[in-house]
Amino acid sequence: MQTSSHNRVLLKRSLNAVWHPCTQMKHHETLPLIPVASARGCWLYDFDGNRYLDAVSSWWVNLFGHANERINAALIDQLTRLEHVMLAGFTHETVVQLSERLAQLTGNALGHCFYGSDGASATEIALKMSFHYWRNTGRGGKTHFVSLAGSYHGETLGALSVTDVALFKDTYAPLLRGSAQVASPDWRLAAQGESARDFAIRCAYELDHHLAAHHSTTAALILEPLVQGAAGMGMYDPEYLRRAREICDRYDVHLIADEIMTGFGRTGTFFAHEQAGITPDFLCLSKGITGGYLPLSVVLTSNAVYGAFYDDAVTRGFLHSHSYTGNALACRAALATLDIFEKDAVIETNRAKATMMNDLVSPIAAHLRVRNFRNTGMIWAFEIDGTDDGVARRVYEHALARELLLRPIGRTVYFMPPYVISDEELALLVTRTLDIVQSL
Ligand SMILES: *Cc1c(COP(=O)(O)O)cnc(C)c1O
Repeated sequence: MQTSSHNRVLLKRSLNAVWHPCTQMKHHETLPLIPVASARGCWLYDFDGNRYLDAVSSWWVNLFGHANERINAALIDQLTRLEHVMLAGFTHETVVQLSERLAQLTGNALGHCFYGSDGASATEIALKMSFHYWRNTGRGGKTHFVSLAGSYHGETLGALSVTDVALFKDTYAPLLRGSAQVASPDWRLAAQGESARDFAIRCAYELDHHLAAHHSTTAALILEPLVQGAAGMGMYDPEYLRRAREICDRYDVHLIADEIMTGFGRTGTFFAHEQAGITPDFLCLSKGITGGYLPLSVVLTSNAVYGAFYDDAVTRGFLHSHSYTGNALACRAALATLDIFEKDAVIETNRAKATMMNDLVSPIAAHLRVRNFRNTGMIWAFEIDGTDDGVARRVYEHALARELLLRPIGRTVYFMPPYVISDEELALLVTRTLDIVQSL
């Protein structure tokens, strides 16, 4: 890596003025901050001609590459019409079209779209709506939520309450409302010789047991369908979702599918919950929704939920709001993203790409230091064996030195590339990652 004086000055100014997310800032005394001058396709470029393959889709948001021509063109067109208007009392074509198309993607089972600006606010919206639904229907005692061990639903206080990642949660525990966690079906935790499906069934019994005791005070179960991202790409069998749906129905508990990361084709189907043949009561979407361009989130829900708010009384309505709700530019980026899915048959193309990748990665999967190699859709993950706690940072630094952006979670290294990644770029990613594993 080369660093020019321009780079160095920018880094210094950034460290002075910008408080970076998910970072102990002092670590940047020794850990390089990467200045990005421009980006195209899967590549990020600095000011000196260094480049990095964005193998984590810029924190799981990018789908069709940086500077995508089609999304750019749609945004430029939208800029000439309407950039933003408040969505209380007003509406616009772009948000209407997006809502209709998202509803269609759920087979119109979830036909009502409520917008926010980021993933955490989608979680907040779903939790509040679920509670308020029960209150409006005379079950105001349903005030608690259940989530899975290791779950991640965002870091605002309500979302953090149902998140179960100690690193993010423990410090703020005194501020949080208690929520219950039940066993995660993440197959890394299965007993020796137990199949992923059998383990999922065993975990579903625990959920059943929990709700048998607590259903009268429980509003909803919230979960990340098929892949628990922040838990280190924990993957599980769809049978868990089928059983969770059936159990929630039996106990009058909502099922909230947090597809903020898993939605938009990431797990091999448009929504991950489709693989279980179920419909959640609430569907939270964000991240890939705008192709990684602009902040936008949405919660979709059913006629049954919507109907419980529809009334003459103001306070029976859902009075939640965000200033940028339904932002026209963000909605237009989302429409352009959906157009690409349709025109390019992205789900099918990704399937072929994933099959090819699964051949390519076999030397990594077979490496002596690699454990639990796994794949769901366009996500690949594995653990690095050993006792070295600094492995995440070392992999990150080794990767940068090899033109790769990898951001391990603890011992878990994962690939979550933009869907436009080429076969050559996948091959480069695999070869250089293998080289990193070998040199640790
Ligand atoms: C990223 C993420 C969130 C939070 O989204 P933000 O936009 O970062 O607030 C919530 N749930 C899941 C599953 C996520 O991956």
